[in-house]
Amino acid sequence: MIDLEKPETEFTLRMVGEAARLAKKIRQEMLSPALSKEDRSPVTVADFAAQALIGRALLEAFPHDCLVAEEDSGPLATAEGRHTLQQVTQFLAALIPDVDSRQVCDWIDRGKGECEGRFWTLDPIDGTKGFLRGDQYAVALALVEKGQVQVGALGCPNLDGGWLVVAARGEGCWKTSLEGDNGFDRLQVSDCREPGAARILRSFESAHTNEGQMKELQKSLGTEAEPLAMDSQAKYAVLAAGRGDLLFRLPSPTHPDYQERIWDHAAGLLLVEESGGRVTDLDGKSLDFSQGRLLANSRGVLASNGRLHQTALEVLAGQSGQ
Ligand code: AMP
Ligand code: MG
Repeated sequence: MIDLEKPETEFTLRMVGEAARLAKKIRQEMLSPALSKEDRSPVTVADFAAQALIGRALLEAFPHDCLVAEEDSGPLATAEGRHTLQQVTQFLAALIPDVDSRQVCDWIDRGKGECEGRFWTLDPIDGTKGFLRGDQYAVALALVEKGQVQVGALGCPNLDGGWLVVAARGEGCWKTSLEGDNGFDRLQVSDCREPGAARILRSFESAHTNEGQMKELQKSLGTEAEPLAMDSQAKYAVLAAGRGDLLFRLPSPTHPDYQERIWDHAAGLLLVEESGGRVTDLDGKSLDFSQGRLLANSRGVLASNGRLHQTALEVLAGQSGQ
């Protein structure tokens, strides 16, 4: 069993659970439309509330630790944003007595850390588009030390009845229910070695992948089943649980210069590695979490059950124009 006496592991599991249950509650009440960020991607009450909740808790539990998180309070300073901030503050008031909006912005902005050595990385709502559609999304938190992910957890309210999955380096990957009432099961990747039988996982959003290249890959691998399109790092949880075999994150032809963000992969990577799988970029290189907010030295991501990794890398290397 994973050692829940370790303060970092206990914190990660507890806070991802709390934030994911809060996000689920906000989704059920879904009062206001999303705001738009500078890159035109959506951000919601739930993104800000989950980040504030975990930013605050981190300050109490590990006051000296640095945090790199997806959101900042900028969009809340606009006229439209002020209403969102009020709602965020109201949702948090149910959990934190005497909270005020100024504190909420400060907790969110803890995530602007420029961190080195040991730090945390958070995606408060990974897959915001899935969240808005009523599909998959995840709260993702990880602890990185010297470029290596040491602890990670994903809370996925819409996977079955709600999954809470945690991993610590060397201690395996464990799943419990988001409501915390059914103990822990150890996760293990599949033992599929036959590319033709592989179940491929991909992003739901076509702008986050390369549809043409994906078709070519399916053909070269000889996979029969259509890829499963799913938002967020829930894909990594599904792979870790042996319900998928290969996960491709292919750079989109419409955003060829897009660089992956560390919070989109840190927790997911550890879940898969601790379940016996493998995660690299599309060239077979390890993901480097020591270069700030971006996976600066990587091109896309390949995650697998390990058994199919080399075959997938070879097919990627052999693709025309790659
Ligand atoms: P997914 O749910 O797999 O589509 O991944 C969602 C994440 O993709 C978001 O959290 C964004 O950080 C990230 N993202 C945004 N734009 C792109 C892009 N052009 N290519 C790949 N990922 C992106
Ligand atoms: Mg994300």
